[in-house]
Amino acid sequence: MIRFGQTCAAIAARAGKLEKIAVLAEYFRSLDDADLRAAARFFTGNPFAARDDRSLGIGWRTIVAAAKSAWGFEEAQLGTNYREHGDLGAALGPFVRPAMDLALFSETLTPASLYSLFEEIAAARGKSAGRKREALCERILRACTDGTEATYVIKIMTGDLRIGLREGLVADAVAAAFNRDAHEVRRAVMAAGDIGAVAVAARENCLGDLRVAYGSPIGFMLATPMLYGSDYKDLCSGMWLAEEKFDGIRAQAHKVGDNVRLFSRTLNDVTPAYPEVAEALRTIPGDFMLDGEIVAKRGENVLPFRYLQARLQRKTIDPELLKEVPVSYFVFDILAKKEDFLIDEPLVERRERLAETIVSGKHLELATFTRLSEAPAPEELHELFDAARARGHEGIMLKRTDAPYHPGRRGKWWLKLKRELSTLDVVVVAVEWGHGKRAKVLSDYTFAVRGRNGELLTIGKAYSGLTDAEIAELTPWFLAHQRGNGGHAIAVEPKIVIEIAFDIIQPSDLHESGFSLRFPRIVRIRDDKPPEEIDTLDRVEQIYREMLTREGLQP
Ligand code: ATP
Repeated sequence: MIRFGQTCAAIAARAGKLEKIAVLAEYFRSLDDADLRAAARFFTGNPFAARDDRSLGIGWRTIVAAAKSAWGFEEAQLGTNYREHGDLGAALGPFVRPAMDLALFSETLTPASLYSLFEEIAAARGKSAGRKREALCERILRACTDGTEATYVIKIMTGDLRIGLREGLVADAVAAAFNRDAHEVRRAVMAAGDIGAVAVAARENCLGDLRVAYGSPIGFMLATPMLYGSDYKDLCSGMWLAEEKFDGIRAQAHKVGDNVRLFSRTLNDVTPAYPEVAEALRTIPGDFMLDGEIVAKRGENVLPFRYLQARLQRKTIDPELLKEVPVSYFVFDILAKKEDFLIDEPLVERRERLAETIVSGKHLELATFTRLSEAPAPEELHELFDAARARGHEGIMLKRTDAPYHPGRRGKWWLKLKRELSTLDVVVVAVEWGHGKRAKVLSDYTFAVRGRNGELLTIGKAYSGLTDAEIAELTPWFLAHQRGNGGHAIAVEPKIVIEIAFDIIQPSDLHESGFSLRFPRIVRIRDDKPPEEIDTLDRVEQIYREMLTREGLQP
């Protein structure tokens, strides 16, 4: 792993994408199959392949404890390092102390051997699992020989290398290393859910042999907001269809044989929360991957999102709740059928395949759509919008008929027509103890949006909106996920996503983003949204400009 660490450092030091890809490609070329398989996975910032359900199950605390036993250091020095780097790997790396007695501790880490140790950590079960995980973690750290190696080994364990490489670029490096088409490699990564297997297949020139990996969720395609009453000029090129915009929770369904799994936006398995949907899908013949939205629906009435709240993140659902909050899965896309991976097909064709696959019934409905006229007039859209609203939906989605399915992307192929004032999805980065009856809970949240290079930039602080129960539930989570030493404002791991409503956005020096919000209030916790997908500074600026235009001021 020494060369892995050096490669990471070399990639981090280069600003250009092409340079990063070239460095990584050269490293990939130098590895044997076993190391290539593991290293390609590690470069996506994960110990395991995307389709692999396993996780290490070790947090910050275990890693620090293991590092302490391996290397011994002052807690205060760790705090100082952490404040300097803002990252556990970089903070701990400098403490590395290679074993004195080389005969006794001669273990050397390679990507493949580290992968095996990760497998052992993930497999630890039973009462002593925690101790076993810590011991294995210590063994890994003791095998590290220099600071760079240790830094990046820890970064894999914490799940983020922070060298400016997204999975797409790792796939491009695989393509560059073995002279393959970058699009073909990226597509294979999505189909197979394992960049490690794809890297080896790319070297052997057998990408076509990889099978669709049912059970490995792929990123969701997202829509760009379009303001109600705007000029709708995006709809002037191409042909479009309109669908209802459902007010529920997005879900990707994978069915293979009798096995059905549902995945949320965060790519977590949420099947246990919706057993009736899984059952309805089980009765449909064939293997397939679907995209759709689970909505609360009683009889013919579609219910607003808040009804679904009681069903979210349940590990088991009692029959009462099944009756109280009945749901229906509205399916609007198909991503794979049997061995055919369909994401490159145009939407209209996917819609045909979908109609051949799904029959509407209880708890499962084929979403309907309307084809729009060429360059549709605003009245045509508004009529559809009002009709959707009258049926209890949020509005309409507009989709270009020739659009492929772009996993994990928000583009101009899908547009969502919105009327409400915007809200922002942000991530909590620091928390403070409350006052009065909230003195014993962490109730004041400082939150951030994402900057142009993926960095987090604070934009405000909110005290209100959540219930006492929600705040009480989040407090222990924040305490367990602190970053640094604490103090008045406690920095926390940026994982909790919340939706913020506000009156206006204004430029301000108070926050890192250069903007602040007036009267921010928390609308809800967005457990369905990963922190990578929070709103960006560009979006904040866009809302600010729209606000000025609406008020008749020049942006
Ligand atoms: P986004 O998901 O785009 O970040 P958001 O979660 O804040 O935004 P909205 O802007 O209200 O939510 O709407 C977008 C969401 O609408 C999508 O994520 C998806 O879950 C949902 N959705 C509802 N109906 C559809 C549809 N017909 N096609 C695609 N997505 C839909």
